[in-house]
Amino acid sequence: MSRQQTNLVTIGSVQLGAGNAIALQSMTNTDTRDVQATLEQVRQLASAGCDLVRISVPDLESVTAFGKIVKESPCPLIADVHFDYRLAIGALKQGASKVRINPGNIGDWDKVEAIIAAAKERQAAIRIGVNGGSLPRHILAKYEKPTAQALVEAGLEYLDRFLAADFNQMVFSFKSSDVLTTIQAYRLAASKLDWPLHIGVTEAGTTWRGTIHSCVGIGTLLAEGIGDTIRVSLTADPVQEAKVGLEILRSLSLRPTGISVTSCPTCARTPENLIALAEQFEQMVAGMAGQARVAIMGCAVNGPGEAREADLGLALGPGKALLFVKGQIVESVPIDHALERLYEEVSRFVTTKDGLA
Ligand code: SF4
Repeated sequence: MSRQQTNLVTIGSVQLGAGNAIALQSMTNTDTRDVQATLEQVRQLASAGCDLVRISVPDLESVTAFGKIVKESPCPLIADVHFDYRLAIGALKQGASKVRINPGNIGDWDKVEAIIAAAKERQAAIRIGVNGGSLPRHILAKYEKPTAQALVEAGLEYLDRFLAADFNQMVFSFKSSDVLTTIQAYRLAASKLDWPLHIGVTEAGTTWRGTIHSCVGIGTLLAEGIGDTIRVSLTADPVQEAKVGLEILRSLSLRPTGISVTSCPTCARTPENLIALAEQFEQMVAGMAGQARVAIMGCAVNGPGEAREADLGLALGPGKALLFVKGQIVESVPIDHALERLYEEVSRFVTTKDGLA
């Protein structure tokens, strides 16, 4: 897949643009002032695959807490600031690798320039989050509503002003809760901007709805080579966001696949509870290092053949399962021990040359 080339932007130890890997990020939902709880969630998100974590900084107490969290964080942190430019400057002084602001709600431009100066001094980046809800008045008057063109025109105006302030470490986002508007805005932005794009569908909803909307919005853009960092927004535990984001990247071969578990859709031939077994096995291998394609199939007749692309897997039968490797049946296992045996074989497989990540 060819990717849109964008300028290099450095966020602590993570580099965006210029052909670097697409960074996965999520956002904590703890009270930032609770340093231990927030740090614990940052660690969980990093373990789940996040390269960057964003934290809300809504008040001065949170600025102080942010500094403590930065010191222990396993990954670079982004401060999310609305309205008060002093909080953004405070977070930068406390070690934020990037601040996310919406220049449309910061107030007078000299306040935005003060944030730019603080970021420049600390070699931090700024995400310019253009949001349909707070477009500059003259742009809203021109387009009447927050269309894709309106969002991008606002972004281009900010770009000129940031460049005039001699700053070039910008990342842009154009968020709308409408998936089609999001896709159109990012396509337009990618054709006009050389800076990294942060892709996401905002206010996507609960896990079920939000996952679908995010997969369609983010997946469509990534498949077109657009996007340098992604965040899935869900009304759920942020670790779920990270898991969905990681799987989107894996589905497009933008991240190593890890242990990918596929399973058949089940039919009248399925004799055992395949759905529960597949879900259980997916959880068993969730943290396993290495790469393997594993298939759990519902019948011995078609299973191994249908799972031809898999490295190894199970084909279920009444009371037993056939363990197969590269399409060849190697063992018949009682159903109660099938997942255990498969786990052993997958563990062995990933330590061999073929299975190494
Ligand atoms: S693998 Fe077997 S049980 Fe599963 S869908 Fe195909 S035919 Fe049906």
